[in-house]
Amino acid sequence: MQQTLEKIRTDALSAIDSADSTAKLEEIRNEYLSRKSELTNIKKNLKDLSNEEKRIIGPLANKISSDIETKLNEKHNILYKKELNEKLEKDRVDVTLPGSFVPYGKVHPLTRTIDEIVEIFQGMGFSLVHNENSPEVETEYFNFDMLNTPKDHPARDMQDTFYTKVAPNVVLRSQTSGAQIHQMLTSKPPIRVISPGRVYRKESVSARKNNLFHQIEGLIVDKDTTFADLKGVMNEFLRLYFGASRPTRFRSSFFPFTEPSAEVDVQCIMCEGKGCRTCSGTGWLEILGCGMVDPNVLRNVGVDPEIYSGFAFGMGVERLSMLKWGIDDIRLFFNNDIRFLKQF
Ligand SMILES: [Zn+2]
Repeated sequence: MQQTLEKIRTDALSAIDSADSTAKLEEIRNEYLSRKSELTNIKKNLKDLSNEEKRIIGPLANKISSDIETKLNEKHNILYKKELNEKLEKDRVDVTLPGSFVPYGKVHPLTRTIDEIVEIFQGMGFSLVHNENSPEVETEYFNFDMLNTPKDHPARDMQDTFYTKVAPNVVLRSQTSGAQIHQMLTSKPPIRVISPGRVYRKESVSARKNNLFHQIEGLIVDKDTTFADLKGVMNEFLRLYFGASRPTRFRSSFFPFTEPSAEVDVQCIMCEGKGCRTCSGTGWLEILGCGMVDPNVLRNVGVDPEIYSGFAFGMGVERLSMLKWGIDDIRLFFNNDIRFLKQF
């Protein structure tokens, strides 16, 4: 019996020594100390032994139980610490990692250009008027008639303007100039407004032309407004938008609704004036049209041209954006390619 007990001790202590996990220790505890274990069984049956045997076996069995228990606890402490360290190492949070990136939207380059131009003119005392004053679906009356555009003017051609099937004479506006008429019919001089918006032309789409594009219309009507004022305002805008060093020039032109009329060119940004494909070899790019409001237009809206005069201008937002950022294809603005849009 003593030998059996000594063997249990030896086996148990050796098993504990070679255990490599707390789970394994629990198995050993179960095997040697549970109620069904051999050691417990021996203690249970002490009553069947002689008194002399009881005196020796009883204390020995208890001592072996306690030795195994002690050894189990010691080893458990060691293994528990080891396992905890391993787990902490594995689950370690690297606080130097960057946080998760939440992408945020950007303002479309055309919107940026419009905002920038509007801000420049607001700085010169212009008020911003919005689309509701001048709808994109417009009548020929506002798009052409009131702007002194003759019935046989080529701009009215079906080749150039989108006519709708809604009603005869209803078009998608081909210019923001109709905003001038709406403004003068709804407010009295002095007028000093700017009005950005979409316009539509029947064009074959190419790197330079799109069916849909944006214009910004400006209008001043007041007493004693002269062509010198027009030139001053345009030059100030060009200086603020392109910088003082970019050469510009006024060139006489013709529009039905202004007299006299001019176009403004800016030195080609692609070739610095040497002449290239973008500027068709001229070294200049046209960026806006302007002129003194034709007295007929003033009469059309009930403003007396003997008392008042004014000037108007219109510029293409896409063209101005392309020149500023060196973009060579207008279609990029409308393709919504995220690689393009991310650059602004
Ligand atoms: Zn050029």
